[in-house]
Amino acid sequence: MEFDQLWQSALGEIELQVSRPNFVTWFKNSKLIDKKEGTALIGLPNNFAKEWVENKYNKVILGTLRGMDDSTKKVEFVVYNERTAQKPTIKSGTKVAINKNDDFGQLSFSEFKVDQVTNLNSKYTLSSYVVGKSNEMAYAAAMAVIDSVGNKYNPLFIYGGVGLGKTHLMQGMGNEVALKYGGKIRVKYVSSEKFTNDVVWAIRNKRMETVKEKYRLIDMLIIDDIQFIAGKPSTEEEFFHTFNALHENNKQIIISSDRPPKFIPTLEERLRSRFEGGMVVDIGVPDYELRLAIIRSKLQDKKAVLSDEIIDLVANKIQKNFREVEGIINKILFYQSRKNGEITAKNVEEIISESSQEPTKNINPNLIIKAVAEFSEIAPLDLLNKSRKKEVAEARQILMYLLREMLQLSYPHIGRRIGKRDHTTAIYAYEKIAREIQKNPALNQKILIIKELISKG
Ligand code: ADP
Ligand code: MG
Repeated sequence: MEFDQLWQSALGEIELQVSRPNFVTWFKNSKLIDKKEGTALIGLPNNFAKEWVENKYNKVILGTLRGMDDSTKKVEFVVYNERTAQKPTIKSGTKVAINKNDDFGQLSFSEFKVDQVTNLNSKYTLSSYVVGKSNEMAYAAAMAVIDSVGNKYNPLFIYGGVGLGKTHLMQGMGNEVALKYGGKIRVKYVSSEKFTNDVVWAIRNKRMETVKEKYRLIDMLIIDDIQFIAGKPSTEEEFFHTFNALHENNKQIIISSDRPPKFIPTLEERLRSRFEGGMVVDIGVPDYELRLAIIRSKLQDKKAVLSDEIIDLVANKIQKNFREVEGIINKILFYQSRKNGEITAKNVEEIISESSQEPTKNINPNLIIKAVAEFSEIAPLDLLNKSRKKEVAEARQILMYLLREMLQLSYPHIGRRIGKRDHTTAIYAYEKIAREIQKNPALNQKILIIKELISKG
């Protein structure tokens, strides 16, 4: 019990030192198992997490624990989860027994309450969607669609910058329709990445019919971030057919993108004109009033109170992207709870500047190579040359996948760049990873982390 409390306070400190996604990913299921003779033993739910935390956060953890109790000299890590029968302990003078456990599947994220059938996350509701000048058109169109699914604005195309509330609005529509029509209207939400993966999988496995059927049984298809399917010809082709099949039958289609159809450069002309044939609305940059209202509504959700001065500060600092508002509010509340309600404007500014490091816009192949190399601990040259070592093979496939997925480089180019290979090797690598990430949460996790490394440059 005492360990639990100690670890909870340590986590509080750690949370302020690492980014939100890292904190959630790596520390969520961590535990202080034992502490004696200056050594703290930290348990992590699987080998992958253990290695990662050991390599990346050893110093942070040691520093934090030492700050709380200066007799702490060392931190050791083990794989441990509640279900493991025997609880490891630190035995004086002996090495800690490490439970080899490669079960990656158990990284659990309880905040993702995603419906298995619709793929909708129940946290996105229309009642929690705040409307202001910048999104009132989009909201009005959304309401009209809900009233008359498939018949009014079809497709509804919503565009706007990152973090302005497209996903929230579309998922809110989906949840509302599912609720209002009690399953009579079958809703499905997919990211364009998921759609692409389905198509790639179907082509490789000659199961196109299965995928066609799956999508054509839907009454309301919500497809998020469509710009990512642009330039992938077989996916565009399949989407075009799915679109037509649904549209002809008055099934509702809702699409989002970071820009209007005419500015998606590689989008096939016929798809573009289909999109423009419905209703195109944008979500603009929110004004101060809307930003304030969104912050207040997030606080209300959490039943938390912050002074007007602090709310004003957050609303002024975060102007163009709400994605981080929630994380920042959590940090502020946490900080506040530890300081018995005292939190200064300066504290808040620090929290914000630490949290909102904008991802680098200029992603280039070298950044991707560097991140994959760093993550897999393989020298960049080994990734790029012809080495046939087994451990290099998977990293190289991930690299090819990311070059394609993030930069849309051509397969021949990727092949030439990575080990002077033929374009078929690049296609094979891309398709293999695209398929695997759907089945293998550990791989998916790895890719997310690598992307984060990339965005940090
Ligand atoms: P996008 O899909 O446009 O990148 P999201 O829908 O993911 O943006 O929104 C980012 C965050 O901001 C989410 O947590 C979302 O709930 C919140 N948000 C954005 N707009 C609103 C709004 N109008 N009302 C309430 N929350 C919002
Ligand atoms: Mg989104």
